[in-house]
Amino acid sequence: MSSIYLTQIDFGTLLLLILIIMLVISLLPNLLKGEEKEKRQQPTKIYSVLSCLECDYSETREFVPGDYVGKILENRKCPKCDSLMYVKAIYAVYEEKTKEKVRI
Ligand SMILES: [Zn+2]
Repeated sequence: MSSIYLTQIDFGTLLLLILIIMLVISLLPNLLKGEEKEKRQQPTKIYSVLSCLECDYSETREFVPGDYVGKILENRKCPKCDSLMYVKAIYAVYEEKTKEKVRI
């Protein structure tokens, strides 16, 4: 009878230990995640793809506020044919790309 009681205590202690270990394991990635979230909230690089209206010339430059897809840039001329250029596409690039891939 007393031996059963002892094993019951042991089992309870074991459960408690497992719970503590699980808690520590589950808390660690949360702390790391919080740090990464902060990093991910940092501004990403935004680029605009500029394309010529007449020929196939295109170039990429950093996004300028006011840029939108289809916008014709009055002050930008194609270096190849001197025609007007427009914003063909806008895209963002995450700076922490490698770290994002490592995180599961
Ligand atoms: Zn052109």
